[in-house]
Order: sequence, then C-alpha cells, then structure tokens
Amino acid sequence: MEKINNVYCIAGMMADSNCYLIDNSENDSDFDYILVDTGVGGSGDYFSSQLSEIGLSMEDIDLVVNTHCHYDHVGGNYLFPNAKIAIGTIDGDSLEDPESPIPICFVPTREIKRRDVDIRLKEGDRIADFEVLETPGHTAGGISLFDGSILISGDTIFSHGGVGRMDIGGNMEDMKNSLDKLSKLDVEYLLPGHGPWVSNANEHIKMSVGGFYF
Ligand SMILES: [Zn+2]
Repeated sequence: MEKINNVYCIAGMMADSNCYLIDNSENDSDFDYILVDTGVGGSGDYFSSQLSEIGLSMEDIDLVVNTHCHYDHVGGNYLFPNAKIAIGTIDGDSLEDPESPIPICFVPTREIKRRDVDIRLKEGDRIADFEVLETPGHTAGGISLFDGSILISGDTIFSHGGVGRMDIGGNMEDMKNSLDKLSKLDVEYLLPGHGPWVSNANEHIKMSVGGFYF
C-alpha cells in the first residue's frame, strides 16, 4: 500500500471509490485512524487485508469521513463498527434521509446499510491536520480535505484532467466556484475519489479546470 506523508492510499476495487487512511496516531486526538470514503460496501475482505498489512483491523478505524453522499463512497461505512461518521452538512442530510430528493444511490437497487451521521462538517473544520473545504458541484454538500500538501478531492476533481459529473445531485455553477477555489491552492499531491493519485498536483488541477472551461 502506498503511503504519502501520513496518508495510506487504498485503490478502489471495481466500483469502489479510492479510500484514504489518515494516520493521526502521532497526534493527541480521539481519532487515531481516519478513513476517507469507504467504497460500495462489498469489499470488506479487501479492506481487512489492506489494513492488516499495516497492523490494523477494521475495529481500529475511529472516524470515517465521507467526501460526499454517493453510494460508492459511503456504502462501506457499515464495515467499521467503531467509527464515527463525518460528512458535509447537506450531504449528511441526504445520507440520513432515505426519502432524500438528492440521489444517494444512482444505482436504484443499491441498499445503503449504514446511514447515521455523527459529525456534520463545514468549511474550515479540521480533520487531523487537514482543513475541510466545501467543494459542491458534484453533489450539493461535497467536501475536499487539504493539509497544505495533499488534496483529497473526492469526485470534485480527478487526475489527468477531469471533474465529477453534475447530473446526480450536482450543479454546474457550484462546480465552477469549487474549481476556482481549488485552483488557487498550492497542492503537491492530488488524491482523487477515482483513478490514480498523483504528485505534481497543481498541473493536474490546471488540466481539470482548463478542460472544464474548454
Ligand atoms: Zn460521486
């Protein structure tokens, strides 16, 4: 498993999102191990084996942060019994409300097994050394995490030029504003929700933003 600074990168299997494990055990905090996104929920064994490589188990995850409410990012929340669940405020409402008009599952048959939310995140909140950035556009309440070096971008922005689709709870105007916001950061590593994570992140962000305006 690749480690960038204090973040372990777990590549998504099949329809899973990528998942990122922030090792916060050096800091004095209630949350030693923080998992950002959890895939669709069918990859428990895979998570288990990935975590065991670094001497951890599913029970060791203290906090799950969901970048947004889509099933391929929240579906595995139930796999981590000791984890509190944190997500952006608006997407938290969608996750908790089975009648939500914002589609949590764009595959209609997909059932989400865990829908509770403990912490609703907003702009400027801290997750370990990361700052929460509200980056709506792909969904109404999507967030990214930035620690001055690493940007965990969910499905807002991808490497090699690409932004998240806006037809499943998103909005083009919001996406524009979020891209403006991200393009002002000085980022070393881009860790997106799908596809490869990369160094030289500013170049990749530029590519995505340029492609969007093209
Ligand atoms: Zn998504």
